[in-house]
Amino acid sequence: MKPWPGRRNASTLSLRALCVLRAWPLLLLVSLLSSTALAQDKQGASGATVHRSLMLSSAAAETDFSEGSLVFIGNATVLLEFAGFRILTDPNFLHRGELAHLGYGLTTERLTNPAMSLDQLPPVDLVVLSHLHGDHFDQLVQQKLDRDLPIVTTPDAAAQLGRMGFKRLFSLGTWETLTVRKGDATLRITGMPARHGPPVLAAALPETMGSMLDFVNPGGAVTYRIYITGDTLVFDAIKDIPRRYPDVDLALLHLGGTRVLGVTVTMDAAEGVKMMRLVAPRHAVPIHYNDYDVFKSPLSDFERMVREAGLAERLTFLKHGQRYRFVQRPEQR
Ligand SMILES: [Zn+2]
Ligand SMILES: [Zn+2]
Repeated sequence: MKPWPGRRNASTLSLRALCVLRAWPLLLLVSLLSSTALAQDKQGASGATVHRSLMLSSAAAETDFSEGSLVFIGNATVLLEFAGFRILTDPNFLHRGELAHLGYGLTTERLTNPAMSLDQLPPVDLVVLSHLHGDHFDQLVQQKLDRDLPIVTTPDAAAQLGRMGFKRLFSLGTWETLTVRKGDATLRITGMPARHGPPVLAAALPETMGSMLDFVNPGGAVTYRIYITGDTLVFDAIKDIPRRYPDVDLALLHLGGTRVLGVTVTMDAAEGVKMMRLVAPRHAVPIHYNDYDVFKSPLSDFERMVREAGLAERLTFLKHGQRYRFVQRPEQR
């Protein structure tokens, strides 16, 4: 059988891993230099117009706010449909055996297949992208995704995507909001704090955001609120999320306990439970849990810990391709 184009050679990888470990002081220097370069990018882009609203055309006369759903495609890729919007998160369509790039020559092997291929993706209104890592926006997506598709992401990712030729980029800093209108529905997307690892390592990894999606009806009421954590640990600033955005209806938790150079850089099972307690969503769906070989915290650990914490009834565990259905907030029905 012909191997996937990105299939690795085990001996090359271990050699490469060894080189990376030896080159760690150099990596730190590179990371400092690259963060300076990114800072300059931001400065350079500061004169450009930052768009805070987006108008999408709609064929529907009236929007149905009664129910919605999401399909878990794999890793952090979710297709979300509600209030006339179809939203794609963190598009990653690599297949089993292919390598995703994590920067500095580091790669991670995909262990699963996505529930659909990029070619099978139905038309979407926009992409919400938490950060620019290969397991969230892979090389295939970089090549093939429609350049005119609106992408809502961090300022750093927007700058890099701009250089790749993507044209409709909406960057969000923490607590900044983009207002999207389609028909008589409004979607407010707000950047949430996220930190991809402990402070020193996080500075060397891509800038990351969580996002809050508020679906608002013509009367101005929030009918459903979805929090997507992004790749983050639970740190101090996460406490501000429930203060500013209480009543989260659904949380999508990026778990996996991702380990890079021996350091955990995304929530593991225990952190996932901590996040559930802090943000207190009515319901939650774990994603980003078994797709890559850098994920070291099995979902079964999280399942056990949420049971022990008495939170089990708030969780739905989806396999790839499964759909979660939801209804709008009771007070809006
Ligand atoms: Zn990441
Ligand atoms: Zn990730």
